[in-house]
Amino acid sequence: MLIIPISLPTPFYIGAVNVYVVKEDPITIIDTGPKTRDAVDALRAGLRQNGLTTGDIRRIVLTHAHEDHCGLARSLRDEANNAEVFVHGWETGHRAARLEHEENLRLLQQAGVPDDEIASMRTLYDEVRQYADSLDDDHCRELIDGDELDFDAGSLRVVHTPGHTPGSCSFLREADRTIIAGDCVLKRITPNPVISPDPIDPSRRFRSLAEYLVSLARVRSLAPTLVLGGHGEPVHDFEELFNRYLKLINERQTRIISLVPKNGATAWEVSRAMFPNTDDVHRFLAVSESVAHLDYAQSEGKIAVEIADGREVYRRL
Ligand SMILES: [Zn+2]
Ligand SMILES: [Zn+2]
Repeated sequence: MLIIPISLPTPFYIGAVNVYVVKEDPITIIDTGPKTRDAVDALRAGLRQNGLTTGDIRRIVLTHAHEDHCGLARSLRDEANNAEVFVHGWETGHRAARLEHEENLRLLQQAGVPDDEIASMRTLYDEVRQYADSLDDDHCRELIDGDELDFDAGSLRVVHTPGHTPGSCSFLREADRTIIAGDCVLKRITPNPVISPDPIDPSRRFRSLAEYLVSLARVRSLAPTLVLGGHGEPVHDFEELFNRYLKLINERQTRIISLVPKNGATAWEVSRAMFPNTDDVHRFLAVSESVAHLDYAQSEGKIAVEIADGREVYRRL
């Protein structure tokens, strides 16, 4: 079972995205790249180099529903004569335009993001949406933790690895313990735990950092020899990366707690203190990161939170 990486350009700050083609029947592509002319051209060229065309694809599997990963899913599905699209059920919120959701507006308000900032985040988000076709639920089959994606020779096991998004999934080839991990494992950066509603109870917030730490431990328990991430080079030494991630996350925890004043601050205010020189989409990522860390610190009993005027105010104990 041959796994072929193809790097595709994206219009996003993160740079190129990796998609993976499994050249074994049924021919499967894991992630698709964004809906841009450049990405389509690069994908066709990459397939051609390996004796394939988009029409050969029978299965489209998504690690998660961010635009750089899922953008071409619908057009590929159509070109490949209704190849099946697989995605975890918890990605629904992302598939259907996440910031348009009432819940997400509320999450940003709760985090103390000012109205004008929310408005500019929405404008940015509308721009990002053009890089993906939306997928309705009836277009997709659900990835379920523990299921096997079977091939004529070999299989890939679905491993639900929430954190970066609620429905992020990784795929394990047990024979040589290779894992395709999407944005759960990235060689050069720690993935952002993106602010999201809880998929089970959308009135609550998804505890992204706590979930992510569990996912990292779970990947580690699989003792991978090779981890293929959504961006950047493959990871051969997961143990080193795991330790580095934990150190960075712990350092950030300590720093965030130190930035919470005794007289109280919102997640937005903490994010401005933590990441003072950010603009556009990075302000959204900064507030996501801060919320994730504040939730975690609060669950560990290190800071207190109370609601004032519909906003959460954190206080150092
Ligand atoms: Zn992502
Ligand atoms: Zn990504």
